[in-house]
Amino acid sequence: MSNSILLNEELKNIGCELQENIDLAPYTSFRIGGKCKYVVKPNNFTQINEIVSILKKHNIDYYFLGNGSNVLVSDNGYDGAIILLANSLNNFKIDNATIECESGVTLSKLCSVALEHNLSGLEFAFGIPGTVGGAVYMNAGAYGGEMKDVISSCTYLDENNEIKTIYRNEMDLSYRHSIFTDTKCCIISATFELQKDDPKDIKNRMNDYMTRRKTKQPLEYPSGGSTFKRPEGNYASALIEQCGLKGYRVGDAMVSEKHSGFVINVGKATCDDVLNLVDHIKQVVFEQTGYELECEIKTLGF
Ligand SMILES: Cc1cc2nc3c(=O)[nH]c(=O)nc-3n(C[C@H](O)[C@H](O)[C@H](O)COP(=O)(O)OP(=O)(O)OC[C@H]3O[C@@H](n4cnc5c(N)ncnc54)[C@H](O)[C@@H]3O)c2cc1C
Repeated sequence: MSNSILLNEELKNIGCELQENIDLAPYTSFRIGGKCKYVVKPNNFTQINEIVSILKKHNIDYYFLGNGSNVLVSDNGYDGAIILLANSLNNFKIDNATIECESGVTLSKLCSVALEHNLSGLEFAFGIPGTVGGAVYMNAGAYGGEMKDVISSCTYLDENNEIKTIYRNEMDLSYRHSIFTDTKCCIISATFELQKDDPKDIKNRMNDYMTRRKTKQPLEYPSGGSTFKRPEGNYASALIEQCGLKGYRVGDAMVSEKHSGFVINVGKATCDDVLNLVDHIKQVVFEQTGYELECEIKTLGF
C-alpha cells in the first residue's frame, strides 16, 4: 500500500480526514504560496497527539497553522502536513473574569466573548486577524497591550507528545516571542485573566483600535501585517519611509503607500517577490540608517 493510502487509513481510524496536494495560498493572509502535500484538521484536541504520532511514524514533517496571518509560504510549497487549527479547536469556558479558550478560536471571537461578559483586557487584540494559538506563539500585541499582559496559563502538546500546562512566568514571553517560537509544540488552549468593566467603555476602546487600523493599515490588500519587528529605539515603518522606499515594488510585492511597515501583495506576488523586496529593504535601511531590520513574519517551506 502507498504511504498516502496507509496514512489516510490510519487518520480515518481516528476520525480525521486527509486532504492531499492542497494549494496553501488561500490559507494565508498574504494569499501566496505553493501546494502542500497534506492537510489534516483535528476535530478536537485529543486527536492532535494521535495525528502527530501517525505523521512521525510515517516520517512526515508537520506544521501547525492557525489563521495563516503571519506566515509566508514558499512558491514551491511545503513537502509535509499542515495541521490546521483555525476553525477546529473552538471551545471556550468563562468563569467570572477568567476565559479559557482553545487555540483555534479567533481573536475577534475571543474579544467579542469578553465584551459580552463585560470583561476588559483584550481590547488591544481586536482586529489582529489571528487565532489564540498564533497569538500566544507570537506574543501578539498592539496599542500598548500584548498577550503577556492577559494570559495566565496555557496547555500545550510538547515535542514528545505529552500534554503540559505552564503559567505566564514560564512562557518566556517577550516582544513577538514565546517559549513556543521555532519549536514543534502545539498550543492547545490558553487562559486569560481579565477585569470587569463597563461594556460601553470596552466597546469604545475596541472600536477606536479598529478605526485606527482601518485608517492606517492597508487592509484592502493581502499581507502578513507588519513585515518587520520594531527595532529598538525606532519604528521599521519610519525607517523604511525615511529611506524613500514607500511604494517600492518587486513584481507584485510592494511597500504599502499607506503604511510602509507593510509589504502588500498588489496582484499575483510570489514568495520570491516578497523575499527579494524584504532583502532590498533590509539592505537599503542598513546602508542609510545603520538599523538591521528583522522579519516578524514566519516562513514555511524552506
Ligand atoms: C492585516 C494584519 C494586521 C496584523 N496586526 C497585528 C498586530 O497588530 N499585532 C500583532 O502582533 N500581529 C499582527 N498581525 C500578525 C498576525 O495576525 C499575528 O501574529 C497573529 O497572532 C498570528 O495568528 P495566526 O493564527 O494567524 O497564526 P499563523 O500565522 O497561522 O501562525 C503564526 C506562527 O504561529 C504558529 N502557530 C499558530 N497556531 C499555533 C498553535 N496552536 N500551536 C503552535 N504553534 C502555532 C505557526 O506555526 C506559525 O509559526 C497582523 C497581520 C495582518 C495580516
